[in-house]
Amino acid sequence: MPQVYRNLIAGEWVECASKKTFPNVNPANTDEVLGHFQASGAEEVNTACAEAAKAQATWAALPAPRRGEYLFKAAELIESRLDSIAEDMTREEGKTLPEAKGEVKRAVNIFRYFGGEGARSFSYQIPSERPNVFCYMMRKPLGVVGLITPWNFPSAIPAWKMAPALVAGNTVVIKPASLAPLSPYRLVEALVEAGIPGGVVNYVTGSGGGAGNALVEHPAIRAVSFTGSCDVGNRLHEKLAGRKVRVQLEMGGKNPTIVLKDADLDYAADILINGAFFSTGQKCTACSRAIIEKDIYKPLVEKLVAKTKALKVGNGVEPGIQIGPAVDESQLDTDLKYIEIARKEGAILLCGGNRLTGGIYDKGFFVEPTIFDKVKPEMRIAQEEVFGPVLGLMVANDFEEAMRLANGVQFGLSASIVSRDLTRVHQFINGIEAGLITINLPTAGVEYQLPFGGTKESSFGMREQGPLALEFYTESRTVYLKYTQ
Ligand code: NAP
Repeated sequence: MPQVYRNLIAGEWVECASKKTFPNVNPANTDEVLGHFQASGAEEVNTACAEAAKAQATWAALPAPRRGEYLFKAAELIESRLDSIAEDMTREEGKTLPEAKGEVKRAVNIFRYFGGEGARSFSYQIPSERPNVFCYMMRKPLGVVGLITPWNFPSAIPAWKMAPALVAGNTVVIKPASLAPLSPYRLVEALVEAGIPGGVVNYVTGSGGGAGNALVEHPAIRAVSFTGSCDVGNRLHEKLAGRKVRVQLEMGGKNPTIVLKDADLDYAADILINGAFFSTGQKCTACSRAIIEKDIYKPLVEKLVAKTKALKVGNGVEPGIQIGPAVDESQLDTDLKYIEIARKEGAILLCGGNRLTGGIYDKGFFVEPTIFDKVKPEMRIAQEEVFGPVLGLMVANDFEEAMRLANGVQFGLSASIVSRDLTRVHQFINGIEAGLITINLPTAGVEYQLPFGGTKESSFGMREQGPLALEFYTESRTVYLKYTQ
């Protein structure tokens, strides 16, 4: 019998009042249920928020380096279980085992990084205009923060929200994505085993419209950090606008890679494949548009298609598999719907385009890595996020046109360029409308110790990760102290 996983409220693992649960199903093998999670609603969320509020003053009174010690201890516990946590992640989300291991390691690094922030500078001193006056800024936690996370990075994203929130002295209520609640459960479990006081971290599963909605509506919440789709993020923003609740939204992308004519073609093809297809294209930073200078268009596309056809799609726990399944039937349908739309709009299918069937494929939600040629900027496939392994190719007559195409979307999360031309690279860095900019690297694959976030419709609010993450979870206090009378 699959295990029943409970909510964590006030330090206790508890069932929800209705006793209803929902299953966590393996998208590579739908016969496998990893566990059942609590189908919580407003009642559980309200209790969790109230308990988080009760615990907050005591937690904030603990010196920040001591708060950081809980993160260090949890990091150690997660690292000691890295292989099994990663395997659970592959089974619940579908990404390959090496990708899952990399992500769990990243969660460990995030916990250690923010554990260390507990002992680093939370403030700064500034000279006063007046004699004998000592001025400084210090940071205070906000209080209770609500964290709403997506399924595609089920360890890293909960880690990069919880760790800065906690070390800054906030208490948290996290509502993870219903498609991948086990990976965040493992992080919360490690924090509990590390001895974090009851009520400081609260974990409540349930639907977005039920538990998620109740979380953002709770009056104790001082901030909401959300990662997910633009539709939901924009609705949360509207809902919270009148309440002076701090909001951070990390949402979708339509990320371009520009390849200039001086690029090494094999290298460029590998960058495109990594960005577009790894993790089944289910990264907010995935590349979905390749913008290629016309001189190298034909030979690069030939290499790209040949390499794409050689990719191994299957169950991510098997060695050698490079691309796992779509996360569920609905995402698979979205992928296939966009493939159909692209065809109807006149894009030319170069490879892929189908659901994979037969043998193990019949048990999961597998789709072929897909490339479309002759994609025009006005097509939906060039403008809308698919969140699957679908890459559109666009030809550019020169660098300037490549930049116009790259910037001609509502999103601005990540963008990359493949070139050895330093002038063009710097012009790209200055002109590209994206929060994450990579050169001779895929659009995806960011590191925990630097700020993360986009521009335009991709993001709203302050940055996550790196030193800037603490800004969202704290409020400054400015002190003027005259030490003579
Ligand atoms: P989603 O459907 O928007 O869900 C995200 C989270 O919001 C889930 O926990 C979901 O709960 C919850 N939710 C749904 N409706 C809600 C509501 N009315 N009130 C409160 N919470 C609600 O997104 P997703 O499908 O999980 O993730 C894919 C999207 O995330 C893509 O668009 C991707 O680009 C984006 N993403 C962005 C970043 C970034 O940093 N920019 C990173 C990763 C992913 P349920 O799971 O229970 O529905």
